[in-house]
Amino acid sequence: MSGLEVLVELQELDTRLSQLDHKSKTLPEFDRLAELEAGDKELQSSFAEIEVGLSVLRNNQNEREIEIQQLEDKIAKATSSLYGGDMTSPKEAALLQSEIDSIAGRQSLLEDQVIDLMEQIEPYATEEERIETARRVCQNAIKESQERISAALSEIAVERSSVEQEKQDVEQRAGNELVVVYENNRKRMGDHTAVGRLVGTSCGACFLEIAAVEIDRIRRLPSDQPSECPECGALLVR
Ligand SMILES: [Zn+2]
Repeated sequence: MSGLEVLVELQELDTRLSQLDHKSKTLPEFDRLAELEAGDKELQSSFAEIEVGLSVLRNNQNEREIEIQQLEDKIAKATSSLYGGDMTSPKEAALLQSEIDSIAGRQSLLEDQVIDLMEQIEPYATEEERIETARRVCQNAIKESQERISAALSEIAVERSSVEQEKQDVEQRAGNELVVVYENNRKRMGDHTAVGRLVGTSCGACFLEIAAVEIDRIRRLPSDQPSECPECGALLVR
């Protein structure tokens, strides 16, 4: 076995590292999470819309209910004056009674309005509840999706560190000089084409035929001396 065989091993390990990087950036779960987050955002904005309508209706209801309470207090007070015996004249009593009647009329009008408002609120409130439920479901799904992503990423990290360990071992076997040559070639040529196995007379990286005179020269080199493919520049393993 040629001393250059380690180059193939190094390239394979680097390829695996690149694949792991790619895998960690393109987990299908990322798409799922993005979909869920978009759905949640939509729910949020529908919720905000509903809340605007609901708050106007609920404020109206509230104001009327406060006024109704105030009118009730007024009626109670007037009624107690009317029947409390501190009336001086029938005329005064009649006036008070008519005031009570008018307050009661206003109260009844407000009560009708409150009923009307409650009817208007109902479908909004149902929708509000539906959205809240949907958001809870969505939030849970988001959390689960995030957990799946983090589990997948830590699995990849474990695999990555084992490949890196393996790479360190191979680098040690290869020796510093060869590692430097390999790293430079890899920087220049990319992941999969920095090293090529010489198959017959063709380069395993570019698959081109190498001229016989070059092949002769390469074959005469010491077995652990690196040489490049004259066509593509890949380090040839022979
Ligand atoms: Zn080549």
